[in-house]
Amino acid sequence: MSKSIYKLLIISCFFLLCISIPKVTAIVKKLDLISKVIILDAGHGGVDAGAQSGNIVEKELNLVLTKKLEKELTSRGAIVYLTREGDNDLSTTTVNRKRNDLYNRAKFINDISPNMYISLHLNSTTSSSWKGLQVFYTTKNKNSKQIAETITDHLKKKISNVREIKQDNTYYMYKFIKSPGVLIEAGFISNPGENYALRSEDYQNLLINSIADAIEIYFQNN
Ligand SMILES: [Zn+2]
Repeated sequence: MSKSIYKLLIISCFFLLCISIPKVTAIVKKLDLISKVIILDAGHGGVDAGAQSGNIVEKELNLVLTKKLEKELTSRGAIVYLTREGDNDLSTTTVNRKRNDLYNRAKFINDISPNMYISLHLNSTTSSSWKGLQVFYTTKNKNSKQIAETITDHLKKKISNVREIKQDNTYYMYKFIKSPGVLIEAGFISNPGENYALRSEDYQNLLINSIADAIEIYFQNN
């Protein structure tokens, strides 16, 4: 073998090594969520629009964010189920429709018994100064508080407005859910700054990737 071919071979090997290292890292990262079953619950739907402010209708943006998170978690190896994939609620009756919708979401989650569920909502209030993403948990499952803490701690490093976690055992749906999980109010659409950010694709992607990273961190430690 001539010297120049030998040299070329070494350079080629080095080049191949360099381009293969990031790929290996990516595969290792993906393994963290393999075999994890996660249910994503987009709040509201159908006749129940949720909160509305400016151009944002909560049920619509909840579903957009949920589908982005589904895509991200699936790409990292998780098995993801959605409580709804279109503009509908889960009620099977017109009497006490809201209650029935929430009961059926809880039943959907209990029947699958996932490693984690995440409900996605958007907050709204009469005061436009209120802002910040907030994670809610119940004491029904002992792991839910740690999920709330992990997501909150990680999001604080990634986005500017994050509120402290809040325990809430009063919300009807969550009294029935046995699996670990949380409800994320992803920001106040009644706040002009957050309303603007939440409509931006870049912010949505940052938010969703950060939540997916936090879920991975949780499973790395549990
Ligand atoms: Zn909501």
